[in-house]
Amino acid sequence: MKHNIERFEAYIPIGQLLAQYFDFALTHSKCSQCPGYQKTWACPDFDFAPADFWNEFSQLHLIVDRVSCASAATAEEAQNRLFAEKKRFDAEMLELEKKSPGSYGLAAQECVACKKCARLSGLPCVHPDIMRYGLESIGILAVKLVEDQFGFSAQWSDGVSVPDYYLLIGGVILKE
Ligand code: SF4
Repeated sequence: MKHNIERFEAYIPIGQLLAQYFDFALTHSKCSQCPGYQKTWACPDFDFAPADFWNEFSQLHLIVDRVSCASAATAEEAQNRLFAEKKRFDAEMLELEKKSPGSYGLAAQECVACKKCARLSGLPCVHPDIMRYGLESIGILAVKLVEDQFGFSAQWSDGVSVPDYYLLIGGVILKE
């Protein structure tokens, strides 16, 4: 059975975004507790200041897909659905990026383009054309942002439970 996906969108000026939702010290501290920390080039630490990165742009076109897990029989099935939808979502953000010159398409969390990231071998990214940062990796309190904009929160599984839905949080950062 095909699962339901709902899309939510908002436009937020970068000044407002940084004032209300930028806290790289906090997101970095959360990232450092993740098993994937520093395992892809899309994750911190970076060789640039995330605040400087954001200040190159004027507004965020926030895009969130709420992917229903209602028909998933197990946590694994729900997780597999999320991974499949993430690939679709990330590819769409890259396509949207192409439509707005100078923009930046955000991935929904970590980069999964390669089976083993070149960072683990101390080598540069092999696909900088498709590697994109996620909102949280560059300092945005993404869950709070979604809560404030759309009135719902993220859900997680404890490894056994099946949440009502998973969120794919991304979008495009625009120059104009
Ligand atoms: S594209 Fe490949 S090498 Fe680059 S960050 Fe992603 S996984 Fe790593």
